Amino acid sequence: MGISKKAQSISPSPTMTIDAKYKAMRAAGEDVIGFAAGEPDFDTPDYIKAAAIEAINKGFTKYTPASGTPELKRAICDKLQRDNGLTYKPSDIVVSNGAKHSLVNIFVAICDPGDEIIIPAPYWVSYPEMVKIGDGVPVIMHTKEEDYFKFTVDDLRRMITPKTRGLIINSPSNPTGMVYSRQELADIAALAVEKNIYVISDEIYEKLVYDDVKHFSIASFGEEIKNLTIVVNGVSKSHAMTGWRIGYTASNAEIAKAMADIQSHATSNPNSIAQVAATAALNGNDEFVEMMRNEFLLRRNYMVERINSMSSISCKSPHGAFYVMMNVANLLGQEYYGKWLDYKKKAGL
Ligand code: PLP
Repeated sequence: MGISKKAQSISPSPTMTIDAKYKAMRAAGEDVIGFAAGEPDFDTPDYIKAAAIEAINKGFTKYTPASGTPELKRAICDKLQRDNGLTYKPSDIVVSNGAKHSLVNIFVAICDPGDEIIIPAPYWVSYPEMVKIGDGVPVIMHTKEEDYFKFTVDDLRRMITPKTRGLIINSPSNPTGMVYSRQELADIAALAVEKNIYVISDEIYEKLVYDDVKHFSIASFGEEIKNLTIVVNGVSKSHAMTGWRIGYTASNAEIAKAMADIQSHATSNPNSIAQVAATAALNGNDEFVEMMRNEFLLRRNYMVERINSMSSISCKSPHGAFYVMMNVANLLGQEYYGKWLDYKKKAGL
């Protein structure tokens, strides 16, 4: 009988494939370093673990409301107010099994078949596949390294068609480390409002910004854009909690209800214990994330210096997240220990 056309159109995550390869090589005793998966190498702070242990001991092990506990939703609303100047009600929040799940919920909730979602490239590998899962059509908007991988409102205007339903913004960006300024976001917000398109604002790396750069949420530029924006965030990267699987959205109540309804059938609530842990994380202070940020800053400086001191590769210094986007154009067509590095040749182009 085979599998559906939709399933056939979804490719596996290349990040996970490379990570699995790295782990296999490491297990075989090879001296390799994995640069594929975006995961802080720090352990989850003790105060967060303690909250989870207490939750288990108190028997907080039953179903919770499908879209999250009132305590966690309150903590998320407080965080959005404190860090981003955004006022949301608990009913505008949906807590999911990681920001990945939040994103899939979004596209299922907002896309009709054929609706276009604009994705600026270079992009995080999961976005196009998530859009396809939601029956949307990913439309790639290219950017240039010399522009710091940023698109302009003119670029965006050219990409918008009558079928455009939304735009993904990921600032700070995986994989480029680019961060949009307040003015750039304000300009994008004005165009989104003019064209009446949703903005899916993935702010998962908001706490990891360097130099004098500041993170702004595009939803904070007025009521109209707030109403069109779905903010995506989570504790994976900010509190070294990738395995706990807690992400969330903040949006207008209609979209929140649609996502909560979808989730109530697909997964019910995210893990009850992890929700307690995430509540402790968000109600705590930023001491831990600040420690991680300082360490990532040192690593960024080291990586950027080492890459730019090599003859065939180069990179811009990222202002956020923990990724470095290398320019390997000079290596294409070169031979390395007898192997061709030319992707065009490999692909038979
Ligand atoms: N958004 C971006 C841009 C990411 O890089 C990642 C993880 O790599 C996520 C979302 C997913 O985070 P979570 O672990 O909460 O699913």
